[in-house]
Formats: sequence, C-alpha cells, structure tokens
Amino acid sequence: MDRISAFDMIKVGIGPSSSHTMGPWAAALRSLDDLRSAGLLGRVERARVTLYGSLAKTGLGHGTHMAVTLGLTGDDYLTTDTATAVARSRAVRDAGRLPLAGTHEVDFDIDSVFQPLPFHPNGVTFAFALDDGAVFEATYYSVGGGFVVKEGEEAEAAQVTLPYPSDLPAEFLRHCAQTGLPLSEVIRCNERAWRTDDAVNAKLDTLHATMRAAVYKGCHTEGTLPGGLDVKRRAPAMARRLLGLDGSHVLPQDVWFSAIAAQKPPFQQMLRWVTCFALATNEENAAFGRIVTAPTNGACGVLPAVLFYFMLFEGHNTPDAARRFLLVAGETGSFFKKNATISAAMGGCQAEIGVSSAMAAAALAEGLGGSPEQAFMAAEIAMEHHLGLTCDPIGGLVQVPCIERNAMGAIKAITAAHLAVESDPKAARVSLDAVIQTMWETAQDMSAKYKETSDGGLAQRISVNVAEC
Ligand code: SF4
Repeated sequence: MDRISAFDMIKVGIGPSSSHTMGPWAAALRSLDDLRSAGLLGRVERARVTLYGSLAKTGLGHGTHMAVTLGLTGDDYLTTDTATAVARSRAVRDAGRLPLAGTHEVDFDIDSVFQPLPFHPNGVTFAFALDDGAVFEATYYSVGGGFVVKEGEEAEAAQVTLPYPSDLPAEFLRHCAQTGLPLSEVIRCNERAWRTDDAVNAKLDTLHATMRAAVYKGCHTEGTLPGGLDVKRRAPAMARRLLGLDGSHVLPQDVWFSAIAAQKPPFQQMLRWVTCFALATNEENAAFGRIVTAPTNGACGVLPAVLFYFMLFEGHNTPDAARRFLLVAGETGSFFKKNATISAAMGGCQAEIGVSSAMAAAALAEGLGGSPEQAFMAAEIAMEHHLGLTCDPIGGLVQVPCIERNAMGAIKAITAAHLAVESDPKAARVSLDAVIQTMWETAQDMSAKYKETSDGGLAQRISVNVAEC
C-alpha cells in the first residue's frame, strides 16, 4: 500500500511546471547525489543531459532546460532566486560550461529525443564523462506533481506505519465512520506518523502563506508573460477594478486581503475574485514565480482560488480553517496519485485541473460543514465534469489554455461542494472510487496527441516561436 502524505500532493514549488520543471530539477539534484555517493563528482569533465518524449517536445516552454541546468549547478528550486533563474541558466547554456554542483566547471550540453522511453513519457538521462573516459549515467522519470522515479528503482514510498492506511476513498470513509472524526482529523492522525503536530501546522502555514504571496504578487505585477505567446497578465487590472483602486494606490498584503473580505461582495463580484485569484497564481507560475504545486503547477491556481473564496467570502478566515482545508485537499489528491495519475503526460488535463478541482471541492465541502461522505461526493462531482479533458498547451507554454482553465476548475469545485452539501451521498450513483477508476481508463484510451505533447487540440491550431528559457 502506498504511503503518501498530504504534503506530497501540495508543496512549495517554482513555475511553470511540476512535471517539466520541478521533476527534472529534482532529478538533476539526485544525479549529483549519485555522483557524490560514488565519489566521482570531482572527476567529471563533461555533463550531457538528454530529454525524452514530452520533456523534449514541450520542455522549452515548460522551463525544463532551465531546471536541469540550474539543478546541475546545485541550485535548489525551493531556495533559488526566481527573478534571476532564467538569465543564470541561459548564461550557462550559452557558454556551454557548467559549474557542476558549484564545485568545478565542466563542458555541458542538452540533447532532445522526441521518442519517449518505454516506462514514462517524461524521461531524462544525465551522462557524466569522467577523466578516464568512462561515463557515469542515470535515467530518471518525472511522473507528475514533482515526483521522480529513477530507472530500475520502485517509486519511493516512505516506510511509515499509518494508523488509518487507505488506498481507496471508501477505505478512508470507513476510518471516519469508525472514529467519528471528520476527514481532516483522520488525515492529521496519519500525518503524525511523519511529523509532530507543530511541524504539520508549520508546513500548512507555509503553504497558506506562499499561496497568499503568489496571489498578491500576481495581482500586483503588470506585463506580458515570457515565452513568445505575448499573453498579457490580466490579474492586476482585474484586482484593481474589483477593489476600486487606481494604479497609484498599493495596499500592503494583509490590508489588501482584509479589504477584499470587507467588501462582502455579491455573487457576481465573488465569481470575479475567484477568477482573479486563479489567474494571479497561474500568471505567477507562467512567469517562473514561486507558487504552491497542487497537485501540479499547471493547476496551481485552483486550490488558492477556492481557499480564499472559503476564507474571505464564506466567513472562515482563520489559520485553523486553512489548515483543515489544505489537509483534506492533499489527502483527496493522494487517491488519484495512488489509483490513477496526476501526470498530464499520462492522462491529459483531467489529471491536473480535474484532480485539483476534486481536491478543492472536497476541502471546501468539509469546510462548509459537509460530512466525510459529502466531501468525497464533492470530489467525485468535480472530477466527473472534467473527465476526458485534454492537455494541449499552445507552444508548450503553461499559459493557454492553462491559466483560464484554473478559474474554470475553481468554479466547478465551488459548485460541486455546494451541490454535495445539499445532497444525500447515499443516493449518489457514482462514488469517488469509481470516478478515479474511470479517469484512469479514460487516460489510457486518450490519444498521445492530447497528453502534454502539444501535437493536438489548440496547440496544433496556433503556432508560436517559443523563446528559449
Ligand atoms: S492544458 Fe492542463 S494539463 Fe496541460 S499544461 Fe495546461 S494546465 Fe497542465
């Protein structure tokens, strides 16, 4: 049975893609660890990276080249200076010389092979030529949400014993029924197998703070997104209009959020704010900013949009409400990871926006007072109406249709949660278990054109010269 923490599904990341930026970056860092463990780091004279499949096809627009380059310098995406990351990576690639792990310079290049490797569409090989002519080589797969698997190794599963282990949502509901606890409490009991309550709260508060910072920054940063598609950032003007401010008036972050809550906006205005929160987050993601991966970067705007709807407009503006929300969202996402996929290269956009919408729907439903059954019903409804959603990012950039799609995923999540708390789950014809299975079967039937290759759909209709980054 897989052991996946809620924090594996929701984590601080860097844009624009969890599978194409964070995963390859993490793989590069792991390849350095492998070199160190073998005592070979100082003997490397040349580093060559080969990107396969979807990483090769859409890597330029997704920041894969930047990720593997900076990763091999020893830089970590959690702490990197996002404002200079693209320029630093470009300088290394232009020079063809890389400071390996920050120790010594080696020759460096990146190769692309459009044919995927058999195990997964997102493969990357690191080959290090040594001073005696030998080559130290390792292949990794970025399997979605920033998760990485090394060739020849099983996916890493933390060796912990959970009080309430569950592979399927139905099993989790049985734990809730036996204990009489809400989803968020049962999840917290499991999280204690990994870390203390204080550490759980600290991590949840960091996620919340990072989401706030991304929304705030996205609502205060004008301009055009990188990559060559000339997509204008829309969140700042929308936020200004909604708050009735002109550009000369900038409120500090806390005051800004309080001002939104104090508006007590009518439905139409709330809808616009939810859209604005989603756009702001995804515009930050597209601009290589710091966001919260949930469960992926392309879908990183759904959860904050619904969280801030819940906190600011549904009257639950407390740290504890945010913590419970994030725990339920993370656990809900883990069922898709265990039983289907959260990788667009495996399942299209239903695996990204669909899963994030299901995560947000369950979290909101519990927050609104829904039972565990109603919360999972909300997740089922949200996914049910994303089944078959394809991934066709224009130019391989995480911009069109991705940014707006987050707003749509958030609105569906809110509708699904309200629908579920008004419904009797016993009368539901489809369970969350069943919709996850259906999503996985749909993923397997889906043409490769619609799985993050930019070979079909919208991506096929509009060509763009993607700027290298
Ligand atoms: S279309 Fe969906 S799955 Fe594909 S990159 Fe955009 S958000 Fe991600």
